[in-house]
Amino acid sequence: MAGLTASMEALIAALRKLPGVGPRTAERYVFYLLSHPSSVAKELAEAILRVKQTIGFCRSCFNLADGDICAICRDPARDRTTVCVVEDHRSIRAIERAGSYKGLYHVLLGALSPLDGVGPKELRIQELKARVKAGGIREVILATDSDLEGETTALHLTKELRGLAGAGEGGASAAPVKVTRLAFGIPMGSSIEYADQVTLGRALEGRRPL
Ligand SMILES: [Zn+2]
Repeated sequence: MAGLTASMEALIAALRKLPGVGPRTAERYVFYLLSHPSSVAKELAEAILRVKQTIGFCRSCFNLADGDICAICRDPARDRTTVCVVEDHRSIRAIERAGSYKGLYHVLLGALSPLDGVGPKELRIQELKARVKAGGIREVILATDSDLEGETTALHLTKELRGLAGAGEGGASAAPVKVTRLAFGIPMGSSIEYADQVTLGRALEGRRPL
């Protein structure tokens, strides 16, 4: 590219790997960084590295966390009797933005997709069952996407969770956990991530037992 040095071209190429960044945007970022003090570039570079180095999965729900346990699991105001099962972290962001859900989450880290080699063992399903068996959870809301993989996953989870009960008072078994599915005002085949807040709020309120 005329007028660009090799190091500028290398940074443009790196920035273009980010989603939604085209060649013109990448070039604007590079010129922005060049026209500002070194501290701006340093802050950005350090923040990127810090995210990669410090963030891991929550030991309980597999949400992203800075330590062992994520901010949602740590929050004493959350309702610990309800667990919303999602495919990925972006779904948590979408549901949190909708603002009406106050329970906990469980991130599967994917959806069943036999063609891509993703079977039940690749997802955090055993960990979910262990949480239910440990007791205290009354309802599991299946909030996987409404596409083929998401529906297949919801069906599989329904079978796995049906009749499963947590440890109750004094070692006795509590009532079996209630399993519900989001009522989709969300079009078939679409991702939870792209649902607007109202649709997602209604889908949560109108969830149905499975
Ligand atoms: Zn957590």
